[in-house]
Amino acid sequence: MQKKVLVTGGAGFLGSHLCDRLVESGHDVICVDNLFTGSKRNIEHLLGMTNFEFLRHDVTFPLYLEVDEIYNLACPASPIHYQYDPVQTLKTSVHGAINILGLAKRTGAKVFQASTSEVYGDPTVHPQPESYWGNVNPIGVRSCYDEGKRCAETLFFDYHRQHQIRVKVARIFNTYGPRMHPADGRVVSNFIVQALRNEPITIYGDGSQTRSFCFVDDLVDGFLAMMASHDELVGPINLGNPYEFTMLELASLVISVTGSGSELGYQPLPQDDPRQRQPNISLANRELGWAPSIALEDGLERTVRYFRSVLSR
Ligand code: NAD
Ligand code: UDP
Ligand code: UDP
Repeated sequence: MQKKVLVTGGAGFLGSHLCDRLVESGHDVICVDNLFTGSKRNIEHLLGMTNFEFLRHDVTFPLYLEVDEIYNLACPASPIHYQYDPVQTLKTSVHGAINILGLAKRTGAKVFQASTSEVYGDPTVHPQPESYWGNVNPIGVRSCYDEGKRCAETLFFDYHRQHQIRVKVARIFNTYGPRMHPADGRVVSNFIVQALRNEPITIYGDGSQTRSFCFVDDLVDGFLAMMASHDELVGPINLGNPYEFTMLELASLVISVTGSGSELGYQPLPQDDPRQRQPNISLANRELGWAPSIALEDGLERTVRYFRSVLSR
């Protein structure tokens, strides 16, 4: 059945892939984005489609639309971007959530929240199950993002309990793929761009910290499965790839996939940088039948192809 679907942050990395999939399935898609980190280029191939519409708007301001489903992705996601204007980052998560939940309350729409593994902070439980409450610094440089996303989760659950809004909260772990911003400072995009330019690969700290990387197509499958699940499944639910790598392992994989001559260059570890991160995805596996299927090496090859074309523009 064709639905009217709103995607906030739809011109960003994840949002544009989600819009692709929704448009392909024949839904009527409204993409709302203020283009802070997103770009029209990410959605330019959709602009002429009759079932796609772009609206430049900041979600910290009210928004009146008639829709059946909402994916709330608006929020800068990379540390460089979310720390550029921390107050705006908090407003985007908190005021943005209130407006989107208000819209869901008025229209009866089902609403999906793109939360994050950052709600676990620098975790003391490993791997992280959804029941873990996290270890988050409330006043550090990452707090505008972490605490903003935690407050957004609170709002989603309070609107659910108080106003019976149908909510779906997903905690997304590090995801990579084509359309990542080449200058967003995230590790996969940094390493690939540096490798393609034969510049030193910047390892922060000693490179022994770990992350688990999910390819974007796998993640979007998880979003769609979560939205389609029964109303009692409100989350939070972890979505990510459970294979864990150190940053040194990632660097050597990127060097091998690109065939680069780059050396490693060590730089200081940023403040509050989590030591390790790996999702426990047994809930998503059991409830949604979901698990990622794309291995890091394959996903990196596809991502490298994208960055080669972007850098040669
Ligand atoms: P992104 O920066 O590419 O996308 C975010 C989009 O939101 C951008 O297009 C940006 O312009 C838009 N935006 C920012 N503030 C806005 C505002 N006030 N009003 C309207 N639009 C606004 O990042 P992404 O990686 O695509 O992340 C999408 C969502 O997924 C974010 O909410 C992020 O927190 C979450 N997430 C991403 C990851 C990841 O690894 N990519 C991990 C965890 C959570
Ligand atoms: N809101 C919106 N679009 C809507 C409905 C509401 O942007 O379609 C905003 C509205 O500005 C309000 C917020 O969402 O401030 C929260 O709505 P809610 O109904 O919960 O609160 P109230 O209007 O009662 O303050
Ligand atoms: N990192 C790195 N070199 C870079 C960029 C990041 O070693 O050029 C490290 C960073 O310190 C962190 C990990 O890679 O430990 C993942 O960083 P990213 O910003 O991609 O994501 P997050 O810290 O939000 O998981």
